[in-house]
Amino acid sequence: MTDPKFYQLTRTERLAWLVAHEQLSAEDAAFLAQQQPLSDEIAGSMIENQIGQYQLPIGVVQDVVVNGQTYQVPMVVEEPSVIAAANNAAKMVRLNGGFQTHQQQRTMLGEVVLTDLPDLKVAQNWVLANQDLLMRVAQAAHPSIVKRGGGLQAIKVTVVDQTFLKLALTIDTQEAMGANIVNTICEAIAREVQSDLGGTILLSVLTNAAFGAVTVATVTLEPATLATKQLAGEIVAQRIVQATRFAQVDLPRAATHNKGIMNGVDAVVLATGNDWRAIEAGAHSYAAQSGQYQPLTSWQLAADGRLVGRIEIPLPIGMVGGSIGILPAVQVAHRLLKVTNACELAGVIAAIGLGQNLAALRALVSDGIQKGHMALQAKSLAIAVGATETEIEPLVAQLTQAKHLNTATATAFLAQLRH
Ligand code: NDP
Repeated sequence: MTDPKFYQLTRTERLAWLVAHEQLSAEDAAFLAQQQPLSDEIAGSMIENQIGQYQLPIGVVQDVVVNGQTYQVPMVVEEPSVIAAANNAAKMVRLNGGFQTHQQQRTMLGEVVLTDLPDLKVAQNWVLANQDLLMRVAQAAHPSIVKRGGGLQAIKVTVVDQTFLKLALTIDTQEAMGANIVNTICEAIAREVQSDLGGTILLSVLTNAAFGAVTVATVTLEPATLATKQLAGEIVAQRIVQATRFAQVDLPRAATHNKGIMNGVDAVVLATGNDWRAIEAGAHSYAAQSGQYQPLTSWQLAADGRLVGRIEIPLPIGMVGGSIGILPAVQVAHRLLKVTNACELAGVIAAIGLGQNLAALRALVSDGIQKGHMALQAKSLAIAVGATETEIEPLVAQLTQAKHLNTATATAFLAQLRH
């Protein structure tokens, strides 16, 4: 169903294409076409001190194949090259059978920390001996999540730095990201422990090191499908492996390697109404867990010469809760994506992150990142210097031939165009 010229269509034509191919309902297409702002009621009740609204474009990555299913993936992002790169990767991966993903478990973690306890060992033993009581406290604190099949699953108790009593709570939040559910349970447990043992509740809150929601995506590619005009696919594949190896031993590179991954991850997280700060915090803490900040992906050559990529990333995303049910554009994005549960959504997001990394590494080790970037950057520059709708195209054509792509050049070319 891929239309190779989708990006060349007008926005109206793209929406019509999605409706014609039954990816979007006519109502949802009309909603996107109108670009209605949020109602005052919604915008005003979402945050404190609201003074206006802030727009970002929403786009789509076409035909992303994950576990044999084809998705149209919505992305909200301000960086010009992100969706182009994701599309590029989706095309390469489609030729190789698509992404495979799985999320082994989906639990959130909370921490309850007490201080000023007279005997930390006695306190630790008390928690171990009173697990049933604490389970009952958790159930009473959030009965509806228990009815939905979730709730507190396990309590681990440790003494940290000979000062802190820490209870690590593993909580099943079902289809919600679960921050509020976890915090409610943590606070109830903290009160119970304090009332039995004394001491001071230092804090009781979820941790964004969501290592209970790690999602894995993998892909295996024939090197020939990675070839560029200048380089054979085998060379590109070898260099991708080397570039990843370099990121494993060089923190400055690892940071940028992971930023490229998060370009894709955050854009889908945002489009689907999830908390991208939570996803960022989780991803970077996972990358740093060994003490040496690591790339979130690995690329290796298999014995048969194929390139095997893998991403491991905590994705505590939700299908309900937070702003998901409130923002109309988020609901349209969910209907476009058509995932049915949080685990499936996490799989698509992990796949997008891995694809984004593939596209970035392929460009980096062949033509360099600027070639593709600057073509798209020229458009942003044209708009920034004040080009009108009809001036953008000719100005971009001139800018892509220019030796120096900067504001001065763009302003000069625009003045020439207007003469
Ligand atoms: P909500 O507080 O909106 O809670 C989700 C609610 O959805 C549940 O309590 C449940 O209520 C309802 N629900 C309906 N169907 C389901 C289902 N199938 N599975 C689970 N719940 C269901 O959201 P979260 O608890 O998910 O918290 C996320 C929000 O918290 C985000 O906005 C995030 O930004 C914010 N946050 C993040 C923090 C962090 O990351 N450190 C800290 C604090 C807040 P019921 O059962 O009663 O119907």
